[in-house]
Amino acid sequence: MTNDRAARAAERRWESFPPAPEPLPHPVLDSHTHLDIVAEDGGDPATQIDAAAKVGVDRLVQVGVDVKSSRWGVACAAEHPAVVATVALHPNEAPRLSDLDAALAEIAALAEDPRVRGIGETGLDFFRTREEGLRPQERSFRAHIALAKRVGKPLVIHDRDAHADILRVLDDEGAPETVVMHCFSGDEAFAAECVRRGFVLSFAGTVTFKNAPQLRAAAALTPPRQILVETDAPYLTPMPFRGRPNASYLIPLTVRALAEAKGMPLAEMCEAISDNGNRIFGPW
Ligand SMILES: [Zn+2]
Repeated sequence: MTNDRAARAAERRWESFPPAPEPLPHPVLDSHTHLDIVAEDGGDPATQIDAAAKVGVDRLVQVGVDVKSSRWGVACAAEHPAVVATVALHPNEAPRLSDLDAALAEIAALAEDPRVRGIGETGLDFFRTREEGLRPQERSFRAHIALAKRVGKPLVIHDRDAHADILRVLDDEGAPETVVMHCFSGDEAFAAECVRRGFVLSFAGTVTFKNAPQLRAAAALTPPRQILVETDAPYLTPMPFRGRPNASYLIPLTVRALAEAKGMPLAEMCEAISDNGNRIFGPW
């Protein structure tokens, strides 16, 4: 552990976490979290799983970003009944690998596990990956699409500044039956395009940010059946705790913002999210 890592770890310790919000009237899931980062930084995933259940977040989807975290997720899902896993190479990870094909083969093997309920996060990231990284990034995305179709599991997409190319590659390969746009970051037009294709839009804490009216507009036009909610913890903490560490027990803040954006009663919003979670990633 370098000093930098230790400093970040200290920052993320339980004491620095925001207070628990008021519990939800109906249970929901966190459709995208990274508990392996909590564990790596010396935190206890079980504490976070319990804290989430106390406010009505009783199911979690642990998302893999490389072979190591994917393997960790499979083990975590085997140990905790509240957790299921997804496995993949992140679009910023794929271009860094010396042997992409070997890593893809390991992900494909993990994908067969019954506690693995999705392939992701994969996709395109034009913010962090550039030039020579773009070819292996797209090749990896295409391989993950093929894998999702082969094992019949949902595809979880990371899309950073790459909306048009995500659609281009999906159209070209043929999208799997279920596509989840993780941490949806587009405007109304892109949301409408995703909705039309039957994709599921997973909204993160960003939907609560003051400077994100376009995300609330996107949520407003998305049918309840195509909405999920996520933390992407430990990142993207919802308002009013932006900047502090995130965890699944903070999901109620984001669900309340979504219900408000859609003009839906909170309990109905929760029920829709819960049903979608069970249909897409369940049964737990
Ligand atoms: Zn993520």
